[in-house]
Amino acid sequence: MKQLVGVLGHPIAHSKSPLLHNRAFQELDLPYFYTAFDVVPEQLGTAVSGLRALGIRGMNVTIPHKVAVIDHLDEVDPAACLIGAVNTIVNEADRLIGFNTDGDGYVRSLIEETGFNPMGKLVLVIGAGGAARAIVSALLFKGVSQITIINRTEERAIELIDGLKARASELSGSFAHSIQPDSLQHMQWNEIHRMMYQSDCVINTTSIGMWPEQDRMPIANPSFIQGQIVSDLVYNPLKTRWLQEASRQGAIAHGGLGMFVYQGAIAFEKWTGRPAPVRVMREAVESALRSELDIEV
Ligand code: NAP
Repeated sequence: MKQLVGVLGHPIAHSKSPLLHNRAFQELDLPYFYTAFDVVPEQLGTAVSGLRALGIRGMNVTIPHKVAVIDHLDEVDPAACLIGAVNTIVNEADRLIGFNTDGDGYVRSLIEETGFNPMGKLVLVIGAGGAARAIVSALLFKGVSQITIINRTEERAIELIDGLKARASELSGSFAHSIQPDSLQHMQWNEIHRMMYQSDCVINTTSIGMWPEQDRMPIANPSFIQGQIVSDLVYNPLKTRWLQEASRQGAIAHGGLGMFVYQGAIAFEKWTGRPAPVRVMREAVESALRSELDIEV
């Protein structure tokens, strides 16, 4: 009999996660099946209880449940506690344990695809939503020296920083020490140009540039530095206009597909105990996105 895994979200119809995981199970000939569950917020607790009742091995959790799901779990791993959100549940003998693989997935992709070494680097993060929170935590843990967060709504950047600091102070060990007092700062939107000039790595974590508004960029007329890492969490289109402009100016462009693939790969490894076949997972999602874009454009 196959083991069931899947994703809880709302809406969820366009998720590429079933494709990503089922391709991987097929590649390794593993007896698992992954499907998407559309769960409204009022039903989240009941749905999570169902994992225990049905003996489901694990779940991904996506918008809008990543924070609320924490209240329904038995245990949350320290990295997910620091982020304050869970995107992966593992059912270990009826104990539901929450993890967050978004930040580690992002950093793994950034390092493998660009050769970036985060240690001691200055990073600019544009945006302060849920995805920013995950990658900021993971980059701090990898030893970046300072992250500047600039968001359209500055209060949200302040909340992100205050929240991370508060949660870090509640944790023990290396997580508590990953945030030094001056390792995080926020600035106003009009400081973007100056901070881009000073940063080793510039990351767009906003949804600007995502299909169908693929002509938009976080700022008009951006200036990038030769050799600077310029990253975008958006992967639809695969190479946003922001990244096209970065490449044109001699910067190293890093798209969001790798984050999606690796957050899934880390979840896959937690559920199955097997190394994920990352290359075929990536190819499956990339070819689906390319054919959708061909149809949509
Ligand atoms: P979110 O929590 O809703 O945050 C959205 C962010 O975008 C906020 O900082 C928001 O600023 C900013 N924003 C939206 N429209 C803007 C505009 N017109 N001008 C300036 N700022 C704007 O969303 P999220 O979950 O963090 O996701 C953000 C992006 O990352 C999405 O495109 C998502 O698809 C992508 N993502 C990719 C992956 C991956 O695996 N590659 C994973 C997660 C997310 P305000 O606070 O001012 O509203």
